[in-house]
This record gives sequence, C-alpha cells and structure tokens, in this order.
Amino acid sequence: MGLWGSSSRISQGEQGSFHCPRCNSKMRYTDQKVETYFTLFSVKLFPLGGASGYVECATCKSTYNHEVLDYDPHKDASEFQSTFEIAVLKSMVLMMVSDGVSDLGELSAIRDIYRRMTGRPITDTQIESLAKDISSSRASLRDYVGNVSSQLNVGGKEMVVRALYMVAMADGSIAPQEQRLLDAASSALDISPERVRAVIAETDS
Ligand SMILES: [Zn+2]
Repeated sequence: MGLWGSSSRISQGEQGSFHCPRCNSKMRYTDQKVETYFTLFSVKLFPLGGASGYVECATCKSTYNHEVLDYDPHKDASEFQSTFEIAVLKSMVLMMVSDGVSDLGELSAIRDIYRRMTGRPITDTQIESLAKDISSSRASLRDYVGNVSSQLNVGGKEMVVRALYMVAMADGSIAPQEQRLLDAASSALDISPERVRAVIAETDS
C-alpha cells in the first residue's frame, strides 16, 4: 500500500422488501452502499463522491443493481392483463359495429365474454359509448391487438379469435365485413387462417 490511495467502505443503507429473481419470491433486502475514500497512510480523508451500491437479498445473498427494486412481476402481469382486456373489448366492439348495426345479440355476447374474461360487469351504455368512439376513430383491428399480439401465446391469440367469432355469430351469421375482420385478426395476431378456422370449428362444436 502506498502513501496515498483509495479505499472502499460498505455501509448498510435502507432495507425493505423486493422481488428477488433468484428466490423468485418477495424477500427482504438491504441496500449496500459503497463509498470510496481518498486515503493517506491508510487513513480515510474524504469521500471521492459518487457513492454506488447494490441491493443484497437477505435470504440468498444474491446482489443486484438498484433497478431490481422496480421489478414487480404481479404488477407487470396485471398491467398486461388490463391491456389485454381492453384490446379484446375494443376488438369485439369493432366487430359489433363492422356491419353497421349493433343488435341486442351482439351487445349481450360482448357483455358475457367481457364478464367471463375479467370477472367484472360492463353495461350496454358503456359498450355503446365505446362503439361511438370506435366508429368515429376509424381505428383498425391491428391498432387494438397489434401491441398485445407479440406478448400472447397461442392460447391467448386463439382466445381473441374466439371472442371475435362469438360476437360475429351473435346475430346468427357471419357477414362479409365480419369475415374480413376475422381475417384481419389472424393477420394482426400472426396466426394462420387454418388455425382460425380450427378455432372456429372448435367453438361451433
Ligand atoms: Zn434471494
């Protein structure tokens, strides 16, 4: 060791709970602060600034960057769920307005599917006001499902197709505009038309 140099000191900062990726569960953590000092004859004279640090899991002792504290798998999951629900709802309403008339059968199909999907009710008034917005916005199906599509597995994509098909069939038959929308769904969701036909056949049986 020379006459002067630097040395680091680790001190314990704040504690709390976080989702430890290694434990894959909520755990206690300690924020370990690392301060570097300018030293002379091994005596710490002053901090060199820019204290850094890391987060240590109290259980498995794994250490992470501070960004780990922002990670909440449950929050991420519920955020995705609500994005998904809105995407399916808007797609169904787009299907309802596609043939120019929103009949009672389509309204009740949307109410039923939304309730089964989310566990929450939606009123005809809410659906109709959404229908007005959607008709005037001229948004396409891709606008609604495009951004959730990449995060969906096959089962999730098929669920969207099934929901759309049930709304389309609610008035008894598939109109050409409704068929076009189903085709657009398969393209926006990146699933094959064959797969869409198979889902429809399953839904019918
Ligand atoms: Zn851990």
